[in-house]
Amino acid sequence: MVDHEPTIKEAIDNEASSESFKDSNKQTTYNPLSERRFRLPIIVYHSIDDYGTSLSVSPTLFQKQVRFLAEHGWKTLHLRTVLKLLDKRQSIPRKSVVLTFDDAFPTVLEQAQPIMNQYGMTGTTFVVTSQVGLKPEWFRLDRRYKERALLDRDELDRLADSGWEVLPHTHDHPVLTHLPLAKQITQISTSRERIQEWYGTDASILAYPFGQFNSETQQAMREVGMSVGLSLRFSVRISTATMFDWPRIGSAWFKDSEFRQHLGLAGLLELYVKLKQRIKGDRSRHFQNPSPETTRGL
Ligand SMILES: [Zn+2]
Repeated sequence: MVDHEPTIKEAIDNEASSESFKDSNKQTTYNPLSERRFRLPIIVYHSIDDYGTSLSVSPTLFQKQVRFLAEHGWKTLHLRTVLKLLDKRQSIPRKSVVLTFDDAFPTVLEQAQPIMNQYGMTGTTFVVTSQVGLKPEWFRLDRRYKERALLDRDELDRLADSGWEVLPHTHDHPVLTHLPLAKQITQISTSRERIQEWYGTDASILAYPFGQFNSETQQAMREVGMSVGLSLRFSVRISTATMFDWPRIGSAWFKDSEFRQHLGLAGLLELYVKLKQRIKGDRSRHFQNPSPETTRGL
């Protein structure tokens, strides 16, 4: 027995040595006595451009979305801050939102950062550490993204200097679930170590490429000592019982409708879309764990 509430790290370590961990198909079960649930919209963006791809949000629409958040009193929070608050058993401030940008495309610095800066907001970018400053090489990516280099070290430093959080997105952007455990460990640990070397800060929060993970990924995350894994499961409800499956909302769900944006931030968008599906009689694939087909190029 510990004489204090376990920190996130202690709880994950305890969990790794507990009986429940031996069932590898189980979610991270954490210490049920200290499980906490809270609402925190974590929104996932990729590139702010006019290409009209599944990774695009246009600069005009992005500006509208950010202005909407600011005008309705939402404040951006870093994921590291969320972890610190959890460790101190403090609550997450109401109307907190996390804006994340996977892959560190050049438009994050060219478009997202200056627009968010106008409203006093900062974001989080997830970096593929073997491809910093290089043209991205992973598969299922629109040709136009392959023609421009991802943010380089200097550019990432500029982002970090302006208050952004830089975190790992694996070393090579593989589909982790296609790899054996040892290779998953290498992908996660290498990217974490690089970012920690570059910024001297903890980088134990990772976004899974394509949102894909399996029980071995969760085991790899534990072995590397990671704190949080971000998936693409559609929800705003975070639980400390599933630290390696924190959900995020795809920016595409907001489109340009303020109504949908209100619903999404209130955690009601899931209900709204499910009701619409029920009326239409079709069940959308978007509410299942995403398959590689539904997460093209992410
Ligand atoms: Zn990605």
